[in-house]
Amino acid sequence: MNQATAPLPLRHDWSRSEAEALFALPFADLMFRAQTVHRRFFDPNEVQVSTLLSIKTGTCPEDCKYCPQSVRYDTGLEAEQLMEVERVLESARAARETGSTRFCMGAAWRSPKDRDLGVITAMVRGVKELGMETCMTLGMLEPHQAQALAEAGLDYYNHNIDTSPEFYGEVITTRTFQQRLDTLANVREAGIKVCCGGIVGMGEERNDRVGMLLTLANLPEHPESVPINLLVRVEGTPLAEQEDLDPFEFVRTIAVARILMPASHVRLSAGRESMSDELQSLTFLAGANSIFYGERLLTTPNPACSRDTGLFRRLGIRPAALAVQEDDAVDAAPVRAAAPDTALFYDATRA
Ligand code: SF4
Repeated sequence: MNQATAPLPLRHDWSRSEAEALFALPFADLMFRAQTVHRRFFDPNEVQVSTLLSIKTGTCPEDCKYCPQSVRYDTGLEAEQLMEVERVLESARAARETGSTRFCMGAAWRSPKDRDLGVITAMVRGVKELGMETCMTLGMLEPHQAQALAEAGLDYYNHNIDTSPEFYGEVITTRTFQQRLDTLANVREAGIKVCCGGIVGMGEERNDRVGMLLTLANLPEHPESVPINLLVRVEGTPLAEQEDLDPFEFVRTIAVARILMPASHVRLSAGRESMSDELQSLTFLAGANSIFYGERLLTTPNPACSRDTGLFRRLGIRPAALAVQEDDAVDAAPVRAAAPDTALFYDATRA
């Protein structure tokens, strides 16, 4: 193995000054660093595709200032009870037909009630039987709840830290940063893979973007998926009038995430609908290699499927095949996924 292809060790001891120095690099230098790291761990022309379904919508008691699902803000959102299992499976089948390999299910809860676990675990089992990876986001989890989800076969649990520890209190007051870390630890302890990232453009400083990425990169294990969301300003929420983040700062955040957590999937998440094709392309160059596919993200719009498939085709990007091996091997990179079957995904463009 020559030096260029030798595995890079994953680090969990990044310093603030190192992360700040990366953010401060000239744009071309930062992009080159991120691309170089990206190519050591991933096929640069492959993007993992997930679909997200809201399985219980609205009336959440938490006060996350960006979220239209909080019961505290009047956003005109129509609340929905927990979905029936069969309806969830219908959506999962449709997602599989359009090329998604992972099906993510989100419920607007502070934390799940034990009485709901039977239905929730039935959803996990049903989606697994379709041959898809499963992910859930249900709020804070106790150890026994994480264990029940693991026993049902849940692959990933999403629980974002949202922002830096310092800025956190400006955005959420009903649960602490430490409670988020405790849930992540419970998920790891149960043997479920972690999907954890945050949101930028909420009025935080670059310092906070550094702090958020450092928190993630210095966890005992890097999250296998790192969603980086760009704030979607929803009328009725306290952040509805927030100023735009400089798009280059968004790309820099993706690039630094890629460098600090080189074996993780960095996911372009909420906010993609407002991004131009050119901006999305820059984020792929910066190392983003996962997207949500489908026209809604929980309750906010996402680009039309045909726009995504068209952009993939113009850029020569392939949707990744089911990638059990690459995520399992997060501490033994570089690893590449098998060649994907792209036919269904590209057929959706032609329809
Ligand atoms: S982000 Fe989650 S926890 Fe916060 S208000 Fe929205 S649904 Fe509730």
